[in-house]
Amino acid sequence: MAKVDIATLDPAKTVVVATGNAHKVTEIEAILAPLMPGVSFYALGELGDFPDPVENGDTFTQNAIIKAEAALEQTGFAAVADDSGLVVDALSGEPGIMSARWTGVHGDDQRNNEKLMREMENVPEEERTARFHSSVVLIQADGTVICGEGDCEGTIGREPRGTNGFGYDPLFWPTDTPGRTMAELEPAEKNAISHRAHALADLARQLA
Ligand code: IMP
Repeated sequence: MAKVDIATLDPAKTVVVATGNAHKVTEIEAILAPLMPGVSFYALGELGDFPDPVENGDTFTQNAIIKAEAALEQTGFAAVADDSGLVVDALSGEPGIMSARWTGVHGDDQRNNEKLMREMENVPEEERTARFHSSVVLIQADGTVICGEGDCEGTIGREPRGTNGFGYDPLFWPTDTPGRTMAELEPAEKNAISHRAHALADLARQLA
């Protein structure tokens, strides 16, 4: 990733987004920029090669705070971070905060989805409810913490469908888009109903 010299940035007008996912930076900037006039958003990776903090919180919000605090310490700039995952009722909330590393390998979507199908094999239709959850945290340079939370309700399918998105999208049928899995939605459609969009809107309401 091309680097920006931290020394050239104005701390009062800079927010660092603590994620390696370029798509998330765009989504976060699109929603927060109008509420923070004159502020420029940078992905953490544009400002340097910083080690990932250990995400050892017990909740999505704690993990988002850990990531945002680390980015603030590493750069000196206000920082936004999110933590998200899939919460399945029939699995007592699993995979939850373990969503990315449910099978022990970080970010192996295929293995995660195979495990989800196996674990849900004998669960009847009416008990297949689940939601994606997102916590988004903004820590301002003075240490003020603002948290936004959002959910996207749906059910778990029996076989993958669709090729868009990432993670558990091919097995997730959002209540808001009957007849299509999350992986069958166009990016703009997903962004309109997603847990992250709802969490960012919650954060934006508090900032406004
Ligand atoms: P993270 O918050 O980016 O670390 O995401 C944690 C994990 O939750 C991802 O690796 C996915 O397995 C899952 N996840 C989070 N958001 C989504 C989504 O929008 N679609 C599908 N899976 C998701």
